[in-house]
Formats: sequence, structure tokens, C-alpha cells
Amino acid sequence: MTTLSLATVLAEAARRHPDKVAIVDAGGERISYRDLWAQTRAYAAGLRELGITAGDTVAVMIPNVGDFPRVYYAALALGARIVPVSLLLTPEEVGYVLTDSQADLIVTHSAFLQAGGAAAKATGTRLVNVGPLPAELPTEPASNRPARLEEISAKVEPLVTYATTQAEDVAVILYTSGTTGKPKGALLTHLNLVMNAAVNVFDVHPLTGDDVVLGCLPLFHTFGQTVGMNATFRLGGTLVLLPRFSGEAAIELMIRENVTIFHGVPTMYIGLLEAAPKAAVLPKLKLCVSGGASLPVAVLEKFAEAFGSPIWEGYGLSETSPTATTNQPVFGAKPGTVGHPIWGVDVEIARPEIPERIEFVPTGELGEIVIRGHNVFAGYLNRPEATAEALVDGWFRTGDLGAKDDEGFIRIVDRTKDLVIRGGFNVYPREVEEVLARHPAIQQVAVIGVPDATLGEEICAVVVLEDKGLSEQELIEWSKERLGKHKYPRQVRFAEALPLGPSMKVLKRELRKQYSE
Ligand code: AMP
Repeated sequence: MTTLSLATVLAEAARRHPDKVAIVDAGGERISYRDLWAQTRAYAAGLRELGITAGDTVAVMIPNVGDFPRVYYAALALGARIVPVSLLLTPEEVGYVLTDSQADLIVTHSAFLQAGGAAAKATGTRLVNVGPLPAELPTEPASNRPARLEEISAKVEPLVTYATTQAEDVAVILYTSGTTGKPKGALLTHLNLVMNAAVNVFDVHPLTGDDVVLGCLPLFHTFGQTVGMNATFRLGGTLVLLPRFSGEAAIELMIRENVTIFHGVPTMYIGLLEAAPKAAVLPKLKLCVSGGASLPVAVLEKFAEAFGSPIWEGYGLSETSPTATTNQPVFGAKPGTVGHPIWGVDVEIARPEIPERIEFVPTGELGEIVIRGHNVFAGYLNRPEATAEALVDGWFRTGDLGAKDDEGFIRIVDRTKDLVIRGGFNVYPREVEEVLARHPAIQQVAVIGVPDATLGEEICAVVVLEDKGLSEQELIEWSKERLGKHKYPRQVRFAEALPLGPSMKVLKRELRKQYSE
């Protein structure tokens, strides 16, 4: 057994680059690594005062502000496990996460005190708040006011150093729906997360310590947490925090802070394009990284034209820490693919119809993407069956359909569950979306299957228009010329916006629900 702590990511950065700016907080405050680590150690002592020790579980419901990294690394420094809670959850859903993870404490932040507080009350979980208390809270009796982590921390001596944990100990529990069912807690170890942060730095988008990264992806989600926060701190770069994404706000901040690296999901790239002034000048921007959902090639091309910056697409899941592949040019980037596996990780394509063992398909054939390596999680918390289904013969079955070409490039075709079967023919929505995204009047599109009495399912395109002049029939005709008979959408629905999940990914299940009548 080897000792290893994810807290080293911040502790080491503070040791090596104490004077460098670690974060630019949401209010514009610049915080050095020395100060961030000192504040983290103060919070760690505060949490210890609240009884948190190694092996305990601390839920956090904090937006993209400096208190997220402070509380995150503070709990890790004590050897506790972190459960980042999505900010979009209802109190009932937060309650589910608290109960399922058997959290010992939830740390909320002002704006989320209400949802977190209701959940804590309903589940009997202890709560402590960080950040200013909302003014409307009753002042009497004093016992109604939540404890404040800052006050508790100020009364005790800061923690001196971080606790010893083993590489295989669980550091973070990420709630994810995976392929099916209710959200499950994916157990990520210190090794998973330290390695993924390190490999992201060196392999996925070579950072230098002078890089300035825009932190607009939610930090509670795996992409923002590892690729944004941990990877940036690993190298002593600067993370500029943006709590609420909009294309305008992101561009303004990127100009003000001379941002060099942007990470986002495809919806964010569409937001940037929409907000871009005719000749957007982001002179310092040198690289963009996309992941979390497929990036239409049309968006990649439009982006390069508008901003002059390449986008490297990566692929991964909460269960893989998250990065598993990257389209970084060392292998010759191929647009429309997610590139090659990252350093030290294997990605193969297995037969989806044999769930109990891993059997690879021949090169070029479609199958289920399976992953093996240092980034693969340890299983789902308290769910031996789901774990046994997901981890087979040392591989993680992702539930994503894809293929590998003879040069080793991996192409994601779709989620298994998003596949549409129209009259017995498989239609992969992603393929249809790629074509529709090329229509000049279309800003964003999602393709889903809707029930059909004769065919089982019919192809439906839900479209956000850039140019409102387009009719449904015109779009159907346009698609018919470009897509096979069984693939082109017979139904087109125009929407003002697409429903987005916590990490701004399009929620296809919501669309299916909405358009299935
Ligand atoms: P999450 O656990 O929230 O990160 O979601 C993981 C899922 O996002 C994967 O199973 C994929 O379906 C999807 N995903 C991530 N990256 C990509 C990508 N580059 N292209 C297509 N789908 C992706």
C-alpha cells in the first residue's frame, strides 16, 4: 500500500508556488496559493472541531467560489470523503444523496442554504454554512441560525498538515445516474483523482504554470473538478471562477483576466459563439477543451473561425475520474473523434450483447466502450450488483456505443440508451445531430426517438433556431437530401432552449418526456 492524498494537489502547489495566484474569486479577489492553503487548513481545523475525522463523509453544496476548493481540500486534508452535491437538486434529491452517502455533515453556501437546510433537516444530517448568511434568516432564537464554518475555524489553531491516506482510499463520491436508474455514488480513490489531474496536465492539454484557466464548469461535476480545478492547481496555474455561465460573462472575464485555457461542454461553446461580438478578440486564449457530450464538427469549425482557437475534444465519465481519451494533436487530431486513450489507460470496444464478460469486436465495428486503468473508479457505494455489472473482467463497461478505427481513433456514437430503433433499424441520434448542426439557421439541436404506433419509434429533432424564418417542412426536406431514408427526422419541434442538466449537458430524457405525447 502506498500513501497518497488528493490534498497534496493544493498543499504541494502552496509549497512550490506560494506567491502565485491560485484563484481569482467570483468577486475578483486574487488569492495566492499560500493564502488558499492557509484558509484551507483553517477550515480543516473548523471541520475537525465539528467532529469530522478520517473516513467520515462530508457533503458540499457550494457554487464556483473560493469556498469550494477551501472546503473540498479541508475535508480531504482530514482524510474525510467528499460528496459534491449538484446545485440544481431539489431538497428531496439532496436528501436522497445525504442518506445514500450516509453523510456526517453537509456544508452549504449561502444561496443553497435553503435547499441544503431542508434536506439536512429531513434526513437528520448536521449542517454548517460557509459564506455570508442570507439577511432574511430569523435572528431569534439564535439556535435557528446555522453554524458558520468561518466562525468555528477562527477560534481554533489551523491544521498543520494533511492526514495520511492510502492511494486506494476513497477521496470523492460522485453521484451519477450512470446508464440506468437512480443516482449512484461512484467511489473515486485518491489514486484515481491524483493521477487524472496529473495526466490531464501533461497529456490532455499541456499546461504551464503561467496558464490562466476559466473555471466555469461546475466544480461539483467531475469535469470542472478534475480537469478544471485539480489539474490547474497541480501545476500552479490560476483558476478564474465563474459561478454562473453565460457566453457574455465568460467572454468578459476571459478578456479581463487574460484567460489562456477554456474548458467547456458543447452547450458552452454554442453560448460563446452566440455571444461573440463580430470579431471577438481573445488574444491570450490558446486552447479550448470540450467534453461531457459530443461536440458537433460544425461547432468546432465555427468556433475556430470566430475565435481562432482549436478545441481538443476529450471523453470520459464520472466513473473514470473523468478523462479517458483525448484528441490532442500528438496522435494527429481527427475531428469527430475523441482521439486516443490518455497515458496509462486502455480503451477498447466490447460486444454489448455479452454483459457477463468482455469480448472485443473487430477494428471498426460498433460496440460498447470499455475502459481499464488508473482512472477507473472502485465501484458504486453500497451497490454490489451495479458494481458487478459495471466492472467486468477488470474493465469498466461505460454504456456508451463507439468504434475504434485502424489508427486507434475512438468515435463515440451514442449512449446505449439514446439509440433510436425506427422500424427495426438502429438510428444513432448523434449522427443525425451532426448533419442538422450544419444547417445555417440552426443554433442547437437534439435528436430523440418518440413513440410511433407503426414503427415503434420515430425520429424527432428538437431545434433551437438562430434564424426564425425556417419552417418544419423546409428542415425535413433539407434533412431528407442529406440523410438515409430511415434516419432523417419526420418530426421537427422548435424550442426556445434545450433543457440542460447540472453540467449544462442536454437532458435527452426530459426531451423524450416532453415530446412523447
Ligand atoms: P458524466 O458522468 O456526467 O461525466 O457523463 C458521462 C457521459 O457523458 C458519458 O457516458 C458519455 O455518454 C458522455 N460524454 C462524455 N464525453 C463525451 C464526448 N466527448 N462525446 C460524447 N459523449 C460524451
